[in-house]
Amino acid sequence: MPALTDHCTEQLARASAEGRVRRLRAVERQEGAYLWREGRKLLNFAGNDYLGLSQDARVIAAAVQGAALGAGAGSSRLISGECAGYAPLEQALAAYHGQAAALVFSSGYAANLGTIAALAGEGDLILADKLVHACMIDGARLSGATLKRFAHNDIAHAEALLHQHRALHRHCFLLTEAIFSMDGDAAPLMEMQALAERHAAWFVVDAAHALAPLAVQPDVLIGTLSKSLGAVGGFVAAPRAVIDWLISSARPLLFSTALPPSVLASAYAALRVAEAEPQRARDVHARAQRLAEKLALPAPAAAILPVPVGENTRAMRWSEALEVQGFAVPAIRPPTVPPGTARLRVSMNARHTEAEVDALAEAMRALRGAA
Ligand SMILES: *Cc1c(COP(=O)(O)O)cnc(C)c1O
Repeated sequence: MPALTDHCTEQLARASAEGRVRRLRAVERQEGAYLWREGRKLLNFAGNDYLGLSQDARVIAAAVQGAALGAGAGSSRLISGECAGYAPLEQALAAYHGQAAALVFSSGYAANLGTIAALAGEGDLILADKLVHACMIDGARLSGATLKRFAHNDIAHAEALLHQHRALHRHCFLLTEAIFSMDGDAAPLMEMQALAERHAAWFVVDAAHALAPLAVQPDVLIGTLSKSLGAVGGFVAAPRAVIDWLISSARPLLFSTALPPSVLASAYAALRVAEAEPQRARDVHARAQRLAEKLALPAPAAAILPVPVGENTRAMRWSEALEVQGFAVPAIRPPTVPPGTARLRVSMNARHTEAEVDALAEAMRALRGAA
């Protein structure tokens, strides 16, 4: 039998030939819109902390107060009883998103995986946008339902699949994202919801990258505490009966330790700031639009702007060149995105100034001009 290390070394060699090897790098410090990596101070265009709340003094103070209650939760939410921080956070999340109830999970990944796998089952149909996040697909696979993908934001294709497959299945779920994580565009949520209603499908939206509450009220809204709210964790917001059923059936909730009090307190404080200061979301969107204009790219729907590159190795080279100039901008490669569509992905933060955005635009234009 070959050694496990040989097997992994072979896998790595194959991935390396395709430019798919990933490397972990330590960040020594984060402050404001900057991070320090390998001794370099970089303007951070790589984070999902869009509203800048992970660095907000009020949010940090809440985390410190929470930490005084204990560093860890000690058990899953259902075993010894849960931290008092859950109820106010869940009530606030439900109210903010216009839903009756909410349930917090230990990550957005766990919220998507656990919810979809708990609600759907064998004999059901799940229709998902081609570009939805891996955790929705993983949840769909785990559920045992039939999974079909429709072309990105393509209502007509989704409807054709519904005509073809809906009648053969018991329940049907239509899955999409509010803002797509690698493309930065928005789903046509109104049309998708109407489509779901026409075909007796339940509408499930992952709003991980949204900067504010959605204009529609899906049957199930899934979100994260780790992006705009700058903490960690995920949540589901839905009618009370849906939440009650998830409490009895979502395996990542049942079989994984609860979040620590510090995280619950900081997410709650961040939500209060986001509610009280809606200008933050408008500012960050305006900065992303400014960068798009300067690079002659389509206007982004929120804080994410993909800059198309194409080839994996070129995307890596451009990302490295930007790093040398003081900008942290990740290269996104397959399998995260389809082959041949490697890109730089710029994430805006409410703490970036217009001058900083303009400096990044200049550096990117120079790279493109030289290519
Ligand atoms: C980041 C992300 C998640 C996962 O959220 P975490 O809180 O980081 O686990 C889920 N869905 C989408 C669309 C995401 O971008």
